[in-house]
Amino acid sequence: MKWPSKLSFSLVFFVILMVGLSLFASGQGLFTPALPSGLKVNTADRYFEVWPKIVPADVETTVRIISRYETFPKADCTYRVTYTPVGRYAVKSGWVKASAEPIIPQNNAFEIRRFFESEQEHIFRIEEVKADGKAREVGTFHVYSLKPDLFVLRPYKGDIHMHSYRSDGREAPGYVIGAGRRAGLDFMALTDHRNYAASLEVIELFKSLPVDLKIFPGEEVHPPDNPVHFVNFGAKEGITELYKSDETAYRREVQAIMDKLGKIPEGVDRFQYASSVWAFEKIRERGGLGIFAHPYWRPGNANYISYALVDYIFETGIFDALELVSGFDWSDLQEVDVNNLQLARYIEARSKGQKIPVVGISDSHGCEVSDMFGRYYTICFAPSAELADLIKAIKEARSVAIETPAGKLPRAFGPHRLVAYTHFLLRYVLPVHDEMCFEEGRLMVDYAGGRSEVVEELKLLQGQVKKYYDRVWANDAKIPGTVKGGK
Ligand SMILES: [Zn+2]
Ligand SMILES: [Zn+2]
Repeated sequence: MKWPSKLSFSLVFFVILMVGLSLFASGQGLFTPALPSGLKVNTADRYFEVWPKIVPADVETTVRIISRYETFPKADCTYRVTYTPVGRYAVKSGWVKASAEPIIPQNNAFEIRRFFESEQEHIFRIEEVKADGKAREVGTFHVYSLKPDLFVLRPYKGDIHMHSYRSDGREAPGYVIGAGRRAGLDFMALTDHRNYAASLEVIELFKSLPVDLKIFPGEEVHPPDNPVHFVNFGAKEGITELYKSDETAYRREVQAIMDKLGKIPEGVDRFQYASSVWAFEKIRERGGLGIFAHPYWRPGNANYISYALVDYIFETGIFDALELVSGFDWSDLQEVDVNNLQLARYIEARSKGQKIPVVGISDSHGCEVSDMFGRYYTICFAPSAELADLIKAIKEARSVAIETPAGKLPRAFGPHRLVAYTHFLLRYVLPVHDEMCFEEGRLMVDYAGGRSEVVEELKLLQGQVKKYYDRVWANDAKIPGTVKGGK
């Protein structure tokens, strides 16, 4: 009798321990099914489809909420919907306060036709009421209305600063690009130190694959005797080759810039500044976007370039875009939050009326060795993911920089209007997008590792994000001015 009771005691103890541990773990979010981007598909978006989710502002539009697994209506049940405009823009729509109104579902769909006022998020809470009066929530659904200029554009997620083992990164170029798609990126550029050729190599590798990821050329530029880091995104030729093939010409051209400088602030190195002007000009001349990389990076105790030089580069605005948030491996590198300094700088420059185009990038040196890859990126609002459209979007301040620290909500930085809209996208549109990209990226990584037969599977996946977006954006929307909408 003795040993079984001991056993049952241990069993009970074990069960209590496991239940306790799992409760603790779920409380900590350890079992939250997050994507590599750190985003998570909203539960209601699993059970229902909401078409469209993005509608034109100040127009009457029909939104359909379609149940995919559960039948509506049910016998002896009634339904009601409570509407709330998040930003409380409600002058033309006559909305006063949230109150439930009856709604009748048909063939598993709830149809809502209404005037979506101004640019804001709209919330619809649907409840089911049984004959005995007991109510339960069917789901809460989100829609966003946009003014015409933004409505006609699409969000494109991109990381345009990262490294492979062609410089000091961990993985092969093809691995890095495939892993980027796996994390939900729409466009990328590999930017190895002093190595433009690596970016061309990876474009060539995936050239014949049927994939929707756009891959562009790039490099991180380090001109001789100038410690400033530049990212060349998309230029037709490498800047590294330029100074390597003819360093005398580089020095002569920098000297010519120095000669024309005149008086510059104390503490600014004339050669370093002139060489920076040279680098940005050369990138621009070749059709690229010149990015001022991590101005407040502090590899040891000192900033990697002088504050006087950073100040003067800002003051003279010689760059095309600022690296506003950079991915950093917080665990072993930084004692100072570099991104916080970059943000403070950006806010100050903007408050003085300066226009500062921004990007967010991972600066990853290993997709598998830290959690910053796929979590630090740029969202461009552009008519397409072609290079010219993306560069134009960034230059015209139609981009935001994203950082998603592990275990935290993603944060967007940039113009307020775009940040507000991006918050909606990060919750209700992009998680499904990221999930669609995952499989394509997984197969690209496989292809880079030599498995060429994945081409057949990739063919089947191509175009799925476009089909998804065609449903998310209202397609019957006529742009106001040509529209009879309104009240
Ligand atoms: Zn760098
Ligand atoms: Zn870098």
